Amino acid sequence: MKRRTALTALSMGALGLTGLAAARQAMANLERREDRTPALFVGHGSPMNAITDNPFSRAWAEVGTRLGRPSAILCVSAHWQTRGVMVTAMDRPRTIHDFSGFPDELQRKLYPAPGAPGVARKTAEQVKTAAVALDYEWGLDHGTWSVLARMFPRADIPVFQVSLDATQSPASHYELAKELKALREQGVLIIGSGNIVHNLRRLSRQHPDTGFDWAIEFDARVKELIDKGDHRGLIGYPNLGPAAQLAVPTNEHYLPLLYALAVKDEKESITYFNDTTTMGSISMRSLVIG
Ligand code: ZN
Repeated sequence: MKRRTALTALSMGALGLTGLAAARQAMANLERREDRTPALFVGHGSPMNAITDNPFSRAWAEVGTRLGRPSAILCVSAHWQTRGVMVTAMDRPRTIHDFSGFPDELQRKLYPAPGAPGVARKTAEQVKTAAVALDYEWGLDHGTWSVLARMFPRADIPVFQVSLDATQSPASHYELAKELKALREQGVLIIGSGNIVHNLRRLSRQHPDTGFDWAIEFDARVKELIDKGDHRGLIGYPNLGPAAQLAVPTNEHYLPLLYALAVKDEKESITYFNDTTTMGSISMRSLVIG
């Protein structure tokens, strides 16, 4: 996958500073880096972001443009929880409207991307820490398509999902996710789609542009641990103080963050976007890895 970054300038810097042998090494590193597709964690928030022009959806579109074109997209969405791990393997995944009470425009919205049955089957074979079953029933839930509708609006890149096994611990999710890392070298864009802070019971329309103190505190603490590379601390999120109970009352929206971080190399950089809290109790903080 081609990335539109300042690789040329960086390469020239390496040439000037370090001599030919080192420059060759730097070029090799850059090429390797370019071979590895970035990974994302996206705070998806309201399904309305799929059809609303707002700062969140605009940032998704911008990220999509910058990323270029992956060979396929694997999304681990908060909205597909199963017993055991499943991977969607159909040719034409349906658009699932797994919500109610939203306008017809959203209920009718389709994201007709093709599936990626070949990559899905390979993924199932390659994962060793869990048995991964092929699924032909699910499709694309709104954790996936609401984001992709803005990020890759042409819906012409194959998309598949891996489910969250609701019977497993955060540590097991992280271990399984590490096995997905090799997909990045095959041009697959891995996206974890959830929200770092997600408490629908505490949603507040009086706070459209900010969060409660506990939400801001937990989001900031998580960012600190991400910046430190302290994945163990993030896996053990219930120990992050009283704010954790309110921020992560159930962990399906938090776990996709662990999937994104597990496929990160230690030396890769992280860029944040949409790093705000909305409606009192939803953090939209999102990140690009690599
Ligand atoms: Zn959600």
